[in-house]
Amino acid sequence: MAVTSSAPTVATVHPPCLHDLLSFDVYRKYLRTIPIMPNVPLVNPWQVWGRKADNSGWASKCCQDYPQAFGVLKKLYTSHQYSDIALVSRSVLFIEPGKRIWHGKGANAYVEFTPEFLGCWDRHQFEWCKRCRRPTTFEKYPITHRALRKAPVLSEDNPLRCYYCGARQSFAGDNNDR
Ligand SMILES: [Zn+2]
Repeated sequence: MAVTSSAPTVATVHPPCLHDLLSFDVYRKYLRTIPIMPNVPLVNPWQVWGRKADNSGWASKCCQDYPQAFGVLKKLYTSHQYSDIALVSRSVLFIEPGKRIWHGKGANAYVEFTPEFLGCWDRHQFEWCKRCRRPTTFEKYPITHRALRKAPVLSEDNPLRCYYCGARQSFAGDNNDR
């Protein structure tokens, strides 16, 4: 007799990877544009993280400036050996692009996006990570998360972290001020 399981399956929705994001002209333009940085000396403010397509690990390189980091990202992307790549800001947090039109005040305040950024990704499903500079999900990850292995978890407060870079939602999430 065939045995069937009625156990529910967990639906995991992955945020768009770099390849998905590049299908949006407005995001391609955003990624190509050199971000405005504070006029203070920063050591390697950019880091490229590539997840190998064969699941054998990650490639990473810290970079002193954006054009260098963008060049590394491009090289990894065109090698077709990575399933996802992000150019992570290590020092400066960037709010979601297109988030410009504010309405109301105080508890009644809400924000709209400029038209060109509407329709790119689902903002109810994904939240902008100010470090990865792309939509992500913030979840509770085990210590085996790539970004947490060498970092002791000192506090269980705000345990939700970016699926890609591992930053806490309370730090890098962009819905706090929405
Ligand atoms: Zn992130």
